[in-house]
Amino acid sequence: MRLSRYFLPILKETPREAEIVSHRLMLRAGMIRQQGAGSFSWLPLGKRVLDKVNQIIREEQNRAGAQEILMPTIQSADLWMESGRYDDYGKEMLRITDRHERKMLYGPTNEEMVTDIFRSYVKSYKDLPLNLYHIQWKFRDEVRPRFGVMRSREFLMKDAYSFDLDFEGAKAAYNRMFVAYLRTFARMGLQAIPMRADTGPIGGDLSHEFIILASTGESEVFCRKEFLELQVPGADIDFSNDAEIADIVTTWTTPYAATDEMHDEAAWDAISEDEKVSARGIEVGHIFHFGTKYSKPMNATVTGPDGKEHHVSMGSYGIGPSRLLAAIIEASHDENGIIWPESVAPFDVGLINMKVGDEACDRICEELYAKLQAAGKDVLYDDTDQRAGGKFATADLIGLPWQLVVGPRGVANGEVELKNRASGERVSLSVADALNRLA
Ligand code: ATP
Ligand code: MG
Ligand code: MG
Ligand code: MG
Repeated sequence: MRLSRYFLPILKETPREAEIVSHRLMLRAGMIRQQGAGSFSWLPLGKRVLDKVNQIIREEQNRAGAQEILMPTIQSADLWMESGRYDDYGKEMLRITDRHERKMLYGPTNEEMVTDIFRSYVKSYKDLPLNLYHIQWKFRDEVRPRFGVMRSREFLMKDAYSFDLDFEGAKAAYNRMFVAYLRTFARMGLQAIPMRADTGPIGGDLSHEFIILASTGESEVFCRKEFLELQVPGADIDFSNDAEIADIVTTWTTPYAATDEMHDEAAWDAISEDEKVSARGIEVGHIFHFGTKYSKPMNATVTGPDGKEHHVSMGSYGIGPSRLLAAIIEASHDENGIIWPESVAPFDVGLINMKVGDEACDRICEELYAKLQAAGKDVLYDDTDQRAGGKFATADLIGLPWQLVVGPRGVANGEVELKNRASGERVSLSVADALNRLA
């Protein structure tokens, strides 16, 4: 993409309404535009990162055996009356009436709808386990939308739903999602810590929130330092091996970790000070086993091996991709702007032409631009006539992992400069070596 053609509305001024760094940087870098309270448009740069984040989520959901579907945003209230949640959900639910006076709602989550899909088709335990997910917009009329896409009213959610014959099966399904989440967040360069979450009337210990430590997080969290050293399973992990997956979950759930809601002062006091992390955290994912909470009232059953009807045992598994973008920026930025991890960067390389119109600079840039793209790299080529200082500032602000700088002095010696955004390290290289390093 040529910057001269790219819709990248960079803001010079720091927007006053933005209280936290990720919100400020997303606005300044032209990633999002606020359209109303808790409502945002995604501009080209933001949309690119959102797509990358979604793709990682998708790959890890698929690897763990979940299957992607897409359900509507607008739902009929009837299903929610069946489950009993229509009245219980409260003011966070946006209720709508259509022209026939039918009660509708903008989905804040999809347990009811997916249970309806399940009960319409699946009749036998032989078709289990089943896990269906989608990545779809949700609306929750939050009391206090704030911090940009961190807590918005309309936001993107990946929500998966598992169906199993019994608790044992549901637990294995829960464990697979748990491990998929560890991999998902690690691939985005994030250290997410699974913390025990409240299970309410469901009971048991199968609910975890995945929390990113960040000073701007809304929850207070407590965990052992050893979490920061734990190994995340590799891509070769065998999701069909229940015992192997369960072992990983045990490793990641044994050391103390809790949000303020679940905090146990006595257990915490027993840990020595130098092994503790007490910080603030951002909830980026939440997994939950809820058994027959929906399958009973909505009558979702399968025939078991015993020939009898069983209400399926279910769980749900959420991730907030839009919130994740903000969380990644909270975790990875400096005073000059965003520092994208390579896996989610909107472009792999920023190619900066320091002297547009100079025959040699233009020629080398065009060559690098064509060859990097041919090698499958996403390149943002700054071919604008801005002065060099402004170009560097833009490149740092939007945080591309690599900047390739082409200036008249270097080019005269056959050299270009490669800068790593994260370390700030710069090296001079021949054009051929630069291509080798990046392609
Ligand atoms: P919170 O405690 O922050 O209100 P939640 O517990 O209500 O979140 P869940 O119902 O567990 O959220 O939804 C799953 C995921 O969706 C969350 O872990 C979060 O990543 C994301 N999410 C929830 N609410 C919002 C929101 N208002 N804006 C952006 N993302 C959200
Ligand atoms: Mg909430
Ligand atoms: Mg929560
Ligand atoms: Mg939650």
